[in-house]
Amino acid sequence: MSRWDVIIVGAGLSGLSLGAVLAERGKRVLLLEKEGYLGGRATTTEFEGHVLDDGAHVPSRAGHIERVFEIIGRPYPELSAFGIGEIYYKGKWMQLRDVVSHEELRDAFARVAAVPREEIDKLNDVPLDRWVKGFAKGEEIHLVFNYLATSTSVGNRYQNYSTGEMITIMREFMDQGKKLTEMAGVPRGGMKSIYEPLAESIVQKGGEIRLRTPAKMIVTAKGRVRGVAMEEGRRALHSQALPLRTVESDNVVCALPLWSLFKVLPRKGLPAWWVNWIDYLKDKTSQAWSVIYGLDEPAFDLSAFRWVPTMPKSGLSGIFFNMPTYGDKVGQYQFHISYQGHYCELPDLHNADLADNRQQIEAQLDLLEEESAELFPIIKGNVHWKVRHAGIYGIAQSPGLVGEKRPPIFVPEVEGLYIVGDCVREAVGIGMQSAVRSALVCAEEILGEKV
Ligand SMILES: Cc1cc2nc3c(=O)[nH]c(=O)nc-3n(C[C@H](O)[C@H](O)[C@H](O)COP(=O)(O)OP(=O)(O)OC[C@H]3O[C@@H](n4cnc5c(N)ncnc54)[C@H](O)[C@@H]3O)c2cc1C
Repeated sequence: MSRWDVIIVGAGLSGLSLGAVLAERGKRVLLLEKEGYLGGRATTTEFEGHVLDDGAHVPSRAGHIERVFEIIGRPYPELSAFGIGEIYYKGKWMQLRDVVSHEELRDAFARVAAVPREEIDKLNDVPLDRWVKGFAKGEEIHLVFNYLATSTSVGNRYQNYSTGEMITIMREFMDQGKKLTEMAGVPRGGMKSIYEPLAESIVQKGGEIRLRTPAKMIVTAKGRVRGVAMEEGRRALHSQALPLRTVESDNVVCALPLWSLFKVLPRKGLPAWWVNWIDYLKDKTSQAWSVIYGLDEPAFDLSAFRWVPTMPKSGLSGIFFNMPTYGDKVGQYQFHISYQGHYCELPDLHNADLADNRQQIEAQLDLLEEESAELFPIIKGNVHWKVRHAGIYGIAQSPGLVGEKRPPIFVPEVEGLYIVGDCVREAVGIGMQSAVRSALVCAEEILGEKV
């Protein structure tokens, strides 16, 4: 008998959530993480006495992460909500209710609510702007859906956004009776206040988390998974091929983004159609480009989330918000400015270390700072520190790239092997919540019961 019931590769939110649920239900869980920190793309770092998330991480309130906390019997951290949405329109900041009439807004949401559940998937490949054109009377209602598209799915411009995905996201909130203003908030204490309790819970229930331990290879034989191979021994040469040792388990879960999957899973032996499918999807990503400034005062109301549909120079959309900072420098504020991009329109972050790409990345961030300073003069001369950043958000939620166009959690022809995270079919919704949604589906599969 193997020592571990389940080995999970990757300690991002999906791997940690899955591990916490399985450990809670009595499974012996081993979680391997290649980095020296938890949280994956959503990790939190300490910087000059500040607690900083790795780029803006604003969890939505779809309920999946909250469900994991319920299962493990821990309180979910408090979120500071963004209760006000403001659009830069006709040269000034306007709240949604000033842009469109109450009746028009109500009508638009009634249309979202009226799509029969079984029809939603059929709208996956319909661009959102085309769907809205079917009922929009003026340009303002387009602006509202454009705002919702950009704020619920980083990098997806309105015309690149899947209508089915958008409706699913909206319905997750509407079904819980939540208002638009309650959709998302920043966790007090940063993202670590969400992922650390998950890790603690795994260990408390007898699981083990190994940091700085990359999985080198998923081992399969005769149509089933056998375990995970890791390097062992002391490294004498940089180029040394250390021996691999397999830790056995009947269940292995790759909690990795699709663009990292074939670094650990050998293509050989897998059906070509599935390998080609992953290869096609893995770089169709959306991206977030941000600068975080440390200020004494928030640049505007702390509860406001501001959006510029088209920035004057770059033509990209811009997102702006403040958050209180935590750690020793409580009292200062973080001001986040961001561009969002689609894989086809911004420098390729999958190859960010290529000199040509690096040059473009620098230029893009310079432009973001330059045009943001025109909108927010507070940036000039009042900044204690700044951090510039560019990261891959996830697979774009665009027509042709969502729903059935994504691989499900099962790896074909290999029993006991699964993939979870924000890139799979079961990950409908917004980033982190969608990743955890897929983890819950996988937990049910492994446990053979509802969780
Ligand atoms: C800048 C930015 C802003 C974002 N903002 C938001 C937001 O506001 N709201 C939101 O909901 N989502 C946001 N997201 C998306 C969100 O971060 C992801 O959806 C979510 O974190 C995905 O979690 P995951 O567990 O699926 O994958 P990941 O977080 O990518 O976790 C995968 C883990 O696997 C590890 N790993 C990789 N290879 C190996 C190996 N060989 N062996 C062991 N471990 C390995 C990695 O180090 C990593 O820890 C944002 C993303 C970025 C980049």
